[in-house]
Amino acid sequence: MTSEIRPINLDDDLTYIKGIGPTLSQAFKTLGIETVRDLIYFAPRRYDDYSNLLKVKEFKPGLISAKLTINNINAKYVRRGLHITEALGSDESGSVKLVWFNQPYRAKNIKTNISYYVSGKFGLSSGRMLIVNPALEVESDFPINTNGILPIYKTNKNLTVNQIRKSIRAVYGHNFKVDDYMPSVIIKEEKLISLADALKNLHFPKSTLDLTNARLRLSFDEIFALSLVSFKNREILKKEHANVVDIDVELAKKFIKKLPFDLTDSQRAVIWQIYLDLAKESPMNRLLEGDVGSGKTVVALMSALMVMNKGWQVAFLAPTEVLAKQHANTIFKLLKGLGLEKQVGLLVGSMSASQKKMVKEKLAKKEILLIVGTHALLESDVSLSRLALLIVDEQHRFGVNQRKVLQRNAKTTPHLLTLSATPIPRSLALTFFGELSISRLSEKPFKSTEITTEIVAESNINHVYDVIEKQIKDGHQVFVVCPLIIQNESKSRRKDVYSVYDELKEVFPRFKLGLLHGKLSADEKDKVLSDFVSKKLDLIVSTTVIEVGVDVPNATVMAIFDSESFGLAQLHQLRGRVGRGESSSYCFLIGDEDISKNERMNSLVKLTNGFELAEVDLKIRGPGAFYGLSQHGLSDLRFTEFSNLDYIKRVKKIAQQFFKTFHLSDFKQLDDKVSELASIRTLD
Ligand code: ADP
Ligand code: MG
Repeated sequence: MTSEIRPINLDDDLTYIKGIGPTLSQAFKTLGIETVRDLIYFAPRRYDDYSNLLKVKEFKPGLISAKLTINNINAKYVRRGLHITEALGSDESGSVKLVWFNQPYRAKNIKTNISYYVSGKFGLSSGRMLIVNPALEVESDFPINTNGILPIYKTNKNLTVNQIRKSIRAVYGHNFKVDDYMPSVIIKEEKLISLADALKNLHFPKSTLDLTNARLRLSFDEIFALSLVSFKNREILKKEHANVVDIDVELAKKFIKKLPFDLTDSQRAVIWQIYLDLAKESPMNRLLEGDVGSGKTVVALMSALMVMNKGWQVAFLAPTEVLAKQHANTIFKLLKGLGLEKQVGLLVGSMSASQKKMVKEKLAKKEILLIVGTHALLESDVSLSRLALLIVDEQHRFGVNQRKVLQRNAKTTPHLLTLSATPIPRSLALTFFGELSISRLSEKPFKSTEITTEIVAESNINHVYDVIEKQIKDGHQVFVVCPLIIQNESKSRRKDVYSVYDELKEVFPRFKLGLLHGKLSADEKDKVLSDFVSKKLDLIVSTTVIEVGVDVPNATVMAIFDSESFGLAQLHQLRGRVGRGESSSYCFLIGDEDISKNERMNSLVKLTNGFELAEVDLKIRGPGAFYGLSQHGLSDLRFTEFSNLDYIKRVKKIAQQFFKTFHLSDFKQLDDKVSELASIRTLD
């Protein structure tokens, strides 16, 4: 039998595993798992401890595990949709009742003359102490669902925990090698367990100590590798040369004078930081964080102004066409005062071929010095031979890579300024983004209006509808956000865009409603958004695709269904879509009956500052759930407790020491891993 089990490689497709066929491997794909490596790195969400075998007389309510023989099996259909199997499990100390609901196969499978491992929850049910739906396994079958510390994995409608456990067990039935990329000096000094052991213990821990050691090793790896990424990036940047942009203070003053508003102190400070960077020979790598509405665009424009003043070019990349057009409009108006508006261009996918051609020609001739656009800018026939500054809005993760694409063969590296409304908590930023300079716009221009944030139970939804009706009748517009696009088969009760849209059409038959979600084509999305911007629509029902930067000052209501399913920073960004005009605005956090007790929702009502909210989110939910970390690349940290900052700092120090002492390139496997992580952080 063992002869059919062949050795495998970590990069093999899952179908190489004995027992995993095309159907199961397809199901794993829906969890993002394609290779053997993906599967063995698939971290359990938590564990249930069934490792303590008890005698029946020792049972207490809770999770229990025992070795029992099983008798008195009785299976019956009680009524349509309800089948019950009952049995008696016994050891020498006593007996306990076992009950399975809707598992009719149980009665057929149970043998009465052998002993089973039984694991499940012991407790009171219909007036009796019993175990409901226990797992049963025979010793010789290598139990994976009983008698141990059992991993609980994230599942979906295609896969059960049992299938995942079985598949991982099947992987470990093969021979394979896990290369340990960690230098042995580090392993020795830090007393780390091997990578192979760590991964195995993650799925089959024999004790909590096994588990602690496994997590410690895997977390060490992540922090160590990400720190190295940051050191390496910094070193590479240091060797590169940028155009030195000296600053024309008179021009800056003239521009500020023509602005229809006064800059905030915070804007002035940040602009100055950027000017100092631009005047250096090494390329700027700066992240500008600022809440929605904090005025990042004008800061970006003042940076661009100095580059244009030297006759060099600036590319301003936006994530969507609507945003690109919005930025181009704003910039056009602001530069008109200086007579520089002719140097501004727009390049987006929906433009006609001849329009695009004209813009590209003007770029090649350096008539356009500031080009605003979407990914269309990255196409190879776009000539930006004098590119000295790249500004990337709301897409930090792509910035470094796009700089490389746009740089083409030029010797000088463009300065890079990324704009983001999702703050990285300070503590994490310092550790993992050492190569990045960070500026913050900490105050909002005073004109932004009051937003009333209210927590509303769904039973009270009419209150929200009343406000929506009144606002639309007053000529304002409304966003309604839901977590799902369409209801899935598992009948989750969460709200989806389509059913809410239908419901609202009935509630507001006279209003013009639009529908928006990520599965629409880019053209469809842009059409809905521009209809909303031009007031052809009163209300749009949307998923979170609208969270990025859309500026519709006339919108005054943001109503979010199932708001508890979103991260705080994300809710805060959504809220920032309103309150951008003259009129007072509303944000409704809608949810279950007990939503008013939710700590995160209440912190949203209390706090209006995105930076404070980010720290609260990190504290309450941990980084795994923290929205925006994937955007910043920190989602690569799967095993690390972010609350344990001391540990993170310690590992970073070790990495620093290592980086100073050795050449990373002498450790090929580690270097590959670091390069791989670096590319994950910059590509998608
Ligand atoms: P965000 O940081 O969300 O990108 P924007 O740059 O879009 O914010 O700015 C939001 C609005 O605030 C714009 O209409 C902009 O013109 C305006 N604005 C920017 N700075 C100031 C300021 N100092 N005073 C008043 N309004 C400002
Ligand atoms: Mg913006």
